[in-house]
Amino acid sequence: MQNYRPETICVQGGYTPGNGEPRQIPIVQSTTFKYATSADMGKLFDLEASGYFYSRLQNPTCDYVAAKIAALEGGTAAMLTSSGQAANFFALFNIASCGDHIVSSASIYGGTFNLLSVTMAKMGIEVTFVSPDATAEELDAAFRPNTRAVFGETIANPALTVLDIEKFAAAAHRHGVPLVVDNTFPTPIGCRPIQWGADIVTHSTTKYMDGHGVAVGGAIVDSGKFDWMAHADKFPGLCTPDESYHGITYAEKFGQAGAFITKCTAQLMRDFGCTQSPQSAFYLNLGLESLHVRMQRHCENGQAVAEFLQQHPKVEAVHYCGLPGDPYHALAEKYLPNGSCGVVSFELKGGRPAAEAFMGRLQLAAIETHVADARTCCLNPATSTHRQMTEQQLAEAGIPAGLVRMSCGLESKEDLIADIAQALEAV
Ligand SMILES: *Cc1c(COP(=O)(O)O)cnc(C)c1O
Repeated sequence: MQNYRPETICVQGGYTPGNGEPRQIPIVQSTTFKYATSADMGKLFDLEASGYFYSRLQNPTCDYVAAKIAALEGGTAAMLTSSGQAANFFALFNIASCGDHIVSSASIYGGTFNLLSVTMAKMGIEVTFVSPDATAEELDAAFRPNTRAVFGETIANPALTVLDIEKFAAAAHRHGVPLVVDNTFPTPIGCRPIQWGADIVTHSTTKYMDGHGVAVGGAIVDSGKFDWMAHADKFPGLCTPDESYHGITYAEKFGQAGAFITKCTAQLMRDFGCTQSPQSAFYLNLGLESLHVRMQRHCENGQAVAEFLQQHPKVEAVHYCGLPGDPYHALAEKYLPNGSCGVVSFELKGGRPAAEAFMGRLQLAAIETHVADARTCCLNPATSTHRQMTEQQLAEAGIPAGLVRMSCGLESKEDLIADIAQALEAV
């Protein structure tokens, strides 16, 4: 499937039925799998043979969908997780542990910010946040001898900054560590970060990939390009024997293409159990089948709404990289030539009270803690997703208190704009 275009992979990737097998991905609703002898099963437990034995580690339905996402991103291996949070946690914890350090863009999703700055800090992993606009020199200054990864979001939620992936990848590679990119907002239809140097790609599949507000989920994709063995001193978990698997060295046994995802499955899924259910994976696949068609419309509606808001006298500022005046427009033209996403952030004149009045009057756009749904929705990040941040942290993350994040769905753009126009009259 790797040689097909993304549109074809969306529809047919990941699963190729044999003679007389179901045309649609089967939901393998089974916790466990049967074997003829204990020796057969023992080989699976030793990672000597591949196969299914318990759905906390792997399940065929989830693997079909993971294979589709790997093909879409141009990676060598992928796995599904229970949520986007689990995907980002696993992707980083797979290579960083107590005493290690991560460099992250400051412009990231609120949940990931908490994960890095609070929860992973409690685990003894330190993080240095850098501006997404940092120069190469400023990036270099953030690294320490114990840095193990660089993290950023292709299009940040909700600040909508665009990551200069090549610049961040170059900095990571200068210091011998991988770049992990959360590609949730553009999806591989808009951008394939691996092409630009990212080593690991993560997703909250809850967003556009599902696209219908049906199932929470996540995914991790390995590019297979990072040479762990060349930096073996930094990545003992991949490059030295795992005593919990009878002394397997992942980077040797599974090579560059398979080591990261195998270790992540064998250790982190085994121990934390953040699995996606086969039923959720099935829903996710339905979403993926139309991802390429839907993304086009989401982008078209986002662009139309951004253009309308930009010329409206009651609007202070609009953040949408598809607008020629946006500070991230040049990066968007490079990394997102087919459009960015349907999410538009904007500030009303009158700050937080104006935002509240406006949101209360909307008819089509519902107030929800969600984005990337077929139905248009909106929220005020400062009072919801980013509630835990101080005013200063909000400012650093580029999120003023009166910011409204609107996720344009798949409705008629004329109807969406009419709804926004009537709600603005109330302000
Ligand atoms: C929503 C989101 C997450 C978290 O994903 P969940 O599926 O809600 O756990 C992570 N990163 C980004 C960019 C997101 O938008």
